[in-house]
Amino acid sequence: MLKLLKESNLSKLINFYFNMTNDPFGNYLKQLDKVQSILRLDKSIYQKLQKPDRVLKADLEIKMDDGLVKKIPAFRSQFNDALGPYKGGIRFHPGVSESEVKALSAWMTLKCSVTGLPLGGGKGGVIIDSHKMSESEVEKLSRAYIRAFYKNLGPTKDVPAPDVYTNSQIMSWMLDEYEKLVGQHAPGMITGKPLCLGGSKGRSYSTAQGAYFVLKNLEKDQKIKKKMSVAIEGFGNAGGQLAEILFADGYKVIAVSDSKGAIVNEKGLDIKKLAQYKKETGAVSGFKGAKDIKKEELFSVSVDVLVPAALENSINPEIAKGIKAKIILEVANGPVTPEADELLEKKGITVIPDILANAGGVVVSYFEQVQNAMNYYWEEDEVIKKLEKIMSLASKNVFSAQKEYQTSLRLSADIVAIKRIVEAVKARGTK
Ligand code: NAD
Repeated sequence: MLKLLKESNLSKLINFYFNMTNDPFGNYLKQLDKVQSILRLDKSIYQKLQKPDRVLKADLEIKMDDGLVKKIPAFRSQFNDALGPYKGGIRFHPGVSESEVKALSAWMTLKCSVTGLPLGGGKGGVIIDSHKMSESEVEKLSRAYIRAFYKNLGPTKDVPAPDVYTNSQIMSWMLDEYEKLVGQHAPGMITGKPLCLGGSKGRSYSTAQGAYFVLKNLEKDQKIKKKMSVAIEGFGNAGGQLAEILFADGYKVIAVSDSKGAIVNEKGLDIKKLAQYKKETGAVSGFKGAKDIKKEELFSVSVDVLVPAALENSINPEIAKGIKAKIILEVANGPVTPEADELLEKKGITVIPDILANAGGVVVSYFEQVQNAMNYYWEEDEVIKKLEKIMSLASKNVFSAQKEYQTSLRLSADIVAIKRIVEAVKARGTK
């Protein structure tokens, strides 16, 4: 009982802290206001974009391994489905809050729209430190999440996917629970599945691959001819894979970091050897042929491109002041605080916004759903060719909006996305 009490107090404290210091949905609303000052949307549509269609809430009851029953708060925010079924991941994290889930669902709506997908936006979250749970407890939690929300989920309603601390195993349990409840196979109700349950080839590195295509398109747009140098914050799934793709294409990846430390080598790191070293030691620090530096120092290394690929809000005004890169490629979601964003704009740094830069993941999730619906599966090269087409078109649309509205890439991407949503809302009518 004492343990339970302590844990629930800790979780409340963490959430109190996050809500006090962080209002992600407030940040989304500020972003929307900027778009409104340019597009001057009808009042009713503007109001519609100011709140989710609905936020579903439940306390998931899980019998833990020690026999105690725990009530775990969970959310599903369905922001807007004018363009198609809601789409967005489920996050298991102690820092989840209603504001965060709402904001992430709004940004998913924009991400699916800017890439031209026939999908709306949603997001799920559970306030839990799942890393402290056993595998069987995580399975119970995953199944309980589906039992709580399954009536509002489905291939033509709302399609979840993995996010922070959720993975393809969790998607498999969720799919299995859903199919038991509805009494039929429905692989398209969730994406990020393993290949054996209808996952897509190429999905595991699609975010990094998409970010690479966006960067190539920016180079074309800005007539950059040289192979640029790069620093990457976060050598994880997305950041590590992007480092490998860039390295294979001859870019000099000069500095990388993870949660434990950072390294630099002005002549360029051997990313293949580094990936192996990280696999063996669990860290990038201590890698031979590179100098260890502090994590914060990575941001001020002299490079052409800086890639934040770790957590939200890692670039604050203090960090932004020291950035020497000319381009920031936002692989992480929301890595730049709104205040730092203004400073970067003043410094003339090109920020490629998250909703475009990291959209490769949701694009291949959409391909996964398409293949599930056909019950016919593409080879990897076909998936990547289709991904390139979508990412290039989305990049071009955002770059031309930037020229038309003479504004930042972030605002241009938001404008492209919101115009498309508004068109669909209007086409549906209001009666
Ligand atoms: P991940 O957990 O695989 O990798 C995160 C990496 O960041 C890890 O290497 C971790 O050590 C490192 N890290 C954590 N704190 C750090 C710190 N303070 N300084 C430096 N490094 C730190 O996660 P991921 O899937 O690669 O996701 C990374 C970001 O990209 C997240 O913001 C996520 O929302 C976003 N994203 C990922 C995908 C995807 O498909 N993986 C899709 C869209 C967006």
